[in-house]
Amino acid sequence: MVEKFMPDIYQKSIYYINYDKLYKKGIRLLLFDLDNTITPSHVHKPTKRLIKLFDELKDKGFKIVIFSNSTKHRIEPFKSELGVDASAFSLKPKKDKYLKIMERFKYKHTEVAAIGDQLITDIYGANKLDITSVLVNPLTPKDYTITWFNRMLEKIIYNRLEKKDVFIRGKYFE
Ligand SMILES: [Mg+2]
Repeated sequence: MVEKFMPDIYQKSIYYINYDKLYKKGIRLLLFDLDNTITPSHVHKPTKRLIKLFDELKDKGFKIVIFSNSTKHRIEPFKSELGVDASAFSLKPKKDKYLKIMERFKYKHTEVAAIGDQLITDIYGANKLDITSVLVNPLTPKDYTITWFNRMLEKIIYNRLEKKDVFIRGKYFE
């Protein structure tokens, strides 16, 4: 049961992911979570470092979509300054928006990787559809988008995964 929350890849941040390896595996569409994955929740525009990373990824041949449960208003400056597509109110971990995006941009699940900081939304949602799931550490401990309930649930899942010896926080793998 708890395996549903186990990421395929775990890295310190989006800047440590081996994107070339993902590309070689056939991944072409990257679904990035917004809050605490590509930006701290309290920051309202992308950093130069993030702009540079996304430009490099586009050059490598990836399609990028910001895939967030946040509002349109919150996503807009990132969407426009990074020059990528975006999906607001994605209702992760529900399957619907993942499927909609894959259909719209014509990608199979084997060509998609979803990157995020939360097990219950980002990782579980991707795993449900057999999309490559990539967990990164949250950029800040504060996250306005996560509920108290989710936070508690996530703690329990982390503990269970660690008990099973399949996951240790800070021990990265790809
Ligand atoms: Mg997040």
